[in-house]
Amino acid sequence: MRLLLAEDDEQLSEALNSVLQHRGYRVDCVRRGQDARTALDCVDYDLMLLDLGLPDVDGLDVVRDLRQAGKKLPILVITARETIDDRIQGLDLGANDYIVKPFDIRELEARIRAFLRNAQWENQPEILCGRLALDTTSRQIFLDRQELELTPRESAVLQALIMRVGKLVHKQSLIEQVSSWDSEVTENAVEIVIHRLRKKLESGGVNIRTVRGFGYLLEKPE
Ligand code: CA
Repeated sequence: MRLLLAEDDEQLSEALNSVLQHRGYRVDCVRRGQDARTALDCVDYDLMLLDLGLPDVDGLDVVRDLRQAGKKLPILVITARETIDDRIQGLDLGANDYIVKPFDIRELEARIRAFLRNAQWENQPEILCGRLALDTTSRQIFLDRQELELTPRESAVLQALIMRVGKLVHKQSLIEQVSSWDSEVTENAVEIVIHRLRKKLESGGVNIRTVRGFGYLLEKPE
């Protein structure tokens, strides 16, 4: 899951980034509207969090341009604007929802989960894969009902594999899962993550198969 966060308030941006990364989301942070546009041109995001009050461009213009270009990615608007007119205008232009500052970070997380769940899992609360289970709400992963202790990278890779169980996941797509704007990740780093995941999963009879030259596959349980 890769999110774009366009927010010029440094403190808020850093706080959101750190909470979301811990949840296994990859977050690219930009401070300016122009940088948001550039990022959107380069990367296929799953969701954008957009502050309306950016220093260079009105956030509403970013929403309008995206929709006019036919892009469908979900947009959650973050706004300090009190007026109902601004909010209505945002939704009319094609934002999917908005949250008003100051907000509780847990509420924002809940909104994000709802978006991504609707988009991806059609309200499946849990994805089971033999003795592994992915809770799509909390994004925790369990082995035999015990929560696995995973780093954000391990969590992102394992989620990607579980969502395509029995199917090949290309190495490049895993690299994208674990990269973010400011930290490019190498093939080697993905190999290390896979190696660690195998160790954590081996007692559970869960097998990640290497498809040489292509990527990895989480074997379907018997
Ligand atoms: Ca702002």
